[in-house]
Amino acid sequence: MVTIKPNEAPSSAPEIKKKVRQVEEPFAPEQTSGLSSYPPPDQWDDWVEYEPRAWPEKREHHYMLVPTTCFNCESACGLMAYVDKETLQVRKLEGNPFHPGSRGRNCAKGPATLTQINDPDRILYPLKRVGPRGSGEWERVSWDDALDAIAGKIRSALQDGRNSEVMYHVGRPGEDGYMERVLQSWGVDGHNSHTNICSSGGRTGYAFWMGIDRPSPDYANARFILLISAHLESGHYFNPHAQRIIEAKMKGAKIAVVDPRLSNTASMANYWLPTAPGTETALLLAIANILIQEETFNREFVRRWTNWDEYLRVMHPEVDVTFDNFVVALKEEYAQYTPEMVEAECGVPSASVIEIAREVAAAGTALATHTWRAASAGHLGGWTVPRALFFLNVLTGSVGTTGGVAPNVWDKFVPRPFMEPTKQKVWNEISWPKEYPLAHHEMSMLLPHLLKQGRGKLAMYFTRVYNPVWTNPDGFMWMDALKDESLFEMHAALTPTWSESSWLADYVLPMGVGAERHDTHSYETHAAKWIALRQPVVRVAMERLGKPVDYTYEANPGEVWEEDEFWIELSWRIDLDGSMGIRKYYESPYRPGEKITMDEYYGWIFENSVPGLPEAAAEEGLTALGYMRKYGAFEIEKQAMRQFDDAVPAEELERASVDPLSQVIMSPAPKAHSPEITPLPGNPPSAAGRAVGVLVDDQPLRGFPTPSGKLEFFSSTLYDWGWPEHAIPNYIQSHVAPSVIDREAGEMTLLPNYRIPTLIHTRSGNAKWLNEISHSNPLWLHPSDAERIGVKIGDLARVETEIGYFVDRVWITEGMRPGVVACSHHLGRWRLDEHGGKGGWSSATVEIAETESGVFRMRQVNGVRAFTSNDPDSKKIWWSDAGVHQNLTFPVQPDPISGAHAWHQRVRVVKASARDEYADIVVDTNRSMIAFERWMKMTRPAPGPGNLRRPLWLLRPYKPDPSAFQIDGPTGR
Ligand code: SF4
Repeated sequence: MVTIKPNEAPSSAPEIKKKVRQVEEPFAPEQTSGLSSYPPPDQWDDWVEYEPRAWPEKREHHYMLVPTTCFNCESACGLMAYVDKETLQVRKLEGNPFHPGSRGRNCAKGPATLTQINDPDRILYPLKRVGPRGSGEWERVSWDDALDAIAGKIRSALQDGRNSEVMYHVGRPGEDGYMERVLQSWGVDGHNSHTNICSSGGRTGYAFWMGIDRPSPDYANARFILLISAHLESGHYFNPHAQRIIEAKMKGAKIAVVDPRLSNTASMANYWLPTAPGTETALLLAIANILIQEETFNREFVRRWTNWDEYLRVMHPEVDVTFDNFVVALKEEYAQYTPEMVEAECGVPSASVIEIAREVAAAGTALATHTWRAASAGHLGGWTVPRALFFLNVLTGSVGTTGGVAPNVWDKFVPRPFMEPTKQKVWNEISWPKEYPLAHHEMSMLLPHLLKQGRGKLAMYFTRVYNPVWTNPDGFMWMDALKDESLFEMHAALTPTWSESSWLADYVLPMGVGAERHDTHSYETHAAKWIALRQPVVRVAMERLGKPVDYTYEANPGEVWEEDEFWIELSWRIDLDGSMGIRKYYESPYRPGEKITMDEYYGWIFENSVPGLPEAAAEEGLTALGYMRKYGAFEIEKQAMRQFDDAVPAEELERASVDPLSQVIMSPAPKAHSPEITPLPGNPPSAAGRAVGVLVDDQPLRGFPTPSGKLEFFSSTLYDWGWPEHAIPNYIQSHVAPSVIDREAGEMTLLPNYRIPTLIHTRSGNAKWLNEISHSNPLWLHPSDAERIGVKIGDLARVETEIGYFVDRVWITEGMRPGVVACSHHLGRWRLDEHGGKGGWSSATVEIAETESGVFRMRQVNGVRAFTSNDPDSKKIWWSDAGVHQNLTFPVQPDPISGAHAWHQRVRVVKASARDEYADIVVDTNRSMIAFERWMKMTRPAPGPGNLRRPLWLLRPYKPDPSAFQIDGPTGR
């Protein structure tokens, strides 16, 4: 038995092996905060366990243990697959102790990957639509036919210069860099994501501060942890973060949770602050105000590392540019955010605000904060929540410190592949319309609305790990648009399972689940940088057993491919003879002119792009790829703190110049620089060169990749691009602010976007274990509201939105703020055909009727029912609830600055009538378009300074060539 002391999770395979040899005392449960027990690596090729059902007979199973990475949320925890050497079946998945982020632990969704592998409803062969789109008539086709048809469609679009008619719409990418290479090799600006219905509000707030859009809290070493929403049970990087939050709590850290709902996270906190939805920013600014007025903020950090001087020059030209004058102005700016104002606006007692502000000040540089979706994705101006939250880190100097919050890129590593394509020279105006020059990601949820406005069409549309009909708001608009072959000429759904959207595809192409594909990834789970390999475990087991495999589909069930090999094959078929300049990116770096293999692609990366990995591998007598195939993950380095304080190396200062006003140091030697990948040093290149740092007290330091090189208290970007009123952190009254909600008229705020820890959007619909645990999303309601409405637990209530209504059962709890209702967005799966387009563990069968022009009604015919399959468990399904698909009844509500969809709804909740049935949905899509146009009117379109579509320095996924940023640049249409 192996025991490692608490908080000493080994970081590399040799280190673990060393510890394994040293520690021999028996495993003790109290010592599990580091590593617990696991099969030693030298037995992974033949690990023996006994068949439990054969007991007392000792019947042996011989396993090959192969690490891979979970794909059931964005955390990318390590998994260890137990592959039966005799049958080549995966028998179970447990944690991978060598993964630095998850350290051998998983949530329920990790091991449940097994049920997705063995799901009897999964799609095993390529299918082509034969009837009208959406009719559910399919025929099995060969991969050759499907690939040729899709390649031909793309080839003609590219040859006609219609580059913006090729779109790849992904939900959870689960990879770093691969698809950017693919789309850029095709020369298209065709990436579309789910991010504007998810994290872009959160990202925007951070990006305006530091030029980097994600925080990396060092929870484990924090003294005070301030969380907006439920990060302990379902946050971003859920399991890796949760274990470190609890570590900090065990060491004495206090936790405060801001959430109108008493989540499991709030129940573990020292402070639960159930603010009125949409007012979180006011609370955070009140905390900031106390630090400012009481002068308990970190004066020296703010002086050195914020652009206070720029703020004074622009906003207060009447005063001398001195830090003392800035403090005076700061006190004036935030004096309005008093504890009393917050008590009135947010509903949090003023005494609590003061108490927490004192805790924040006392935590100093060990203040860990986090917000991601939740409030940031909830309301108009949601992006101001992270901006106000990170303001507290700036004020306390807890930026890049032990126990503080670092820019995520310090803890994330994206390796560069060989021979990178040049950036695309086109701008896709359907994903990036002029109205949203500062939108953090593609305006993906507006796709059907924009197409219906006549802004273009798509020749080829891919959906992958994405179910837009179900996941987006306004799903009836999606259904309508996806059926229209003049808007979507060809739709290929790359998916392991059926979904509401794949039903509307022309090709349904079966792809592997998490344990059946290759990816690299790296996330900011803690204060260290690591990389992990997701790999097809049966393929790797076969290769270890001496059974060569050329393509992953040879090891996968049926004719299930992995995406990486799909894109290689497709690219070869688009560029038939190499004359389009595409094929060369899919040729082996070792065998010129021949098709690249997975071993070559990943082998090259691990050998050439991951610092320290080849050396660590050599110590083990392995190649870099061999090391990653064996251990699944590698820690590159522990986080170096305060990297912005690093001196700029002398060679970079040669011939450099300093901007006299901003003190930004410019190097005259432009060099490829991608802020997404390596944001330091400084700003992206421009005609003047590239920023390599900033002078601080006459010292040349690295700084931040912002226009000022510092943390931007004052955003010249917001100021210059038409939003001067939001140039500094402030509070925006949202569409669900208390002053907007007419409670006398029965109005309430609906929180429709909280996660259930055991589910993950539509991706877990094919996981029987998870659906057995969670299959309902009732409406949370405070007892006072239940009494007013006249409902008891289990009664039906009708929730009326701007465009329709849904009917749900009521759950009455004091863990809900009065005046607010909540419903999880992880349930409500449906299908139109009892026997086709299955998802038997999770979906109800429904009927959809168009009752008037543009008015749709969905009604359940059957709930979840037992079914016959090769899995005997399918006959034992005991639950019938599939939940309610509330998203269908929400209009699109894009924030005019961040572009993020504002999920919170202003609703009326009434007792259901006798005509209402559980899970009824009614939507008027005529009203959908009216709501869409109203929100569009809030925008302030491009061009901005320099006739640009978007500021060059701002992050953008799959960033095009600077020439495409010009408003009159090429659009590929
Ligand atoms: S938190 Fe759970 S679902 Fe997410 S990667 Fe880890 S084990 Fe998988």
